[in-house]
Amino acid sequence: MTAPFQGGCRCGQLRYEAAAEPIFFGHCHCRDCQYASGAGFSSILAVPKAAFKILQGSYAEFDLEAESGNMVSRKFCATCGTSLFSELKAAPDIWIIKAGTLDDPSWLQAGMQIWCDSAQPWATLTEGIPTFGKNPEM
Ligand SMILES: [Zn+2]
Ligand SMILES: [Zn+2]
Repeated sequence: MTAPFQGGCRCGQLRYEAAAEPIFFGHCHCRDCQYASGAGFSSILAVPKAAFKILQGSYAEFDLEAESGNMVSRKFCATCGTSLFSELKAAPDIWIIKAGTLDDPSWLQAGMQIWCDSAQPWATLTEGIPTFGKNPEM
């Protein structure tokens, strides 16, 4: 893996940088990630919040109660609608980034898939990685 890495939204008004390698990269099949991605699941990575910074631009946010019962703040570009980040109230030191917003997401390797109990029948699960019905035991 390579750090630092940068990314941004589709229209380019928001740019970010993470100075640490991801502590997690995986696929989340929860209902809320289906809404956020518009697809079967979200591919998300997490970095320490201290290692993350916005280089330019701003995001809009929407708070909701996720399938886990946790409060989640979802952050997106108000101009182009790209879904960029989430913040879990229960994990305030972590910053979650949507993998598709990296300038180069190709080096990521999924370490697990979670909330598979909510996976859509047409969403293909990844073979050979740890699979959890809900959140993994931490
Ligand atoms: Zn944008
Ligand atoms: Zn999810």
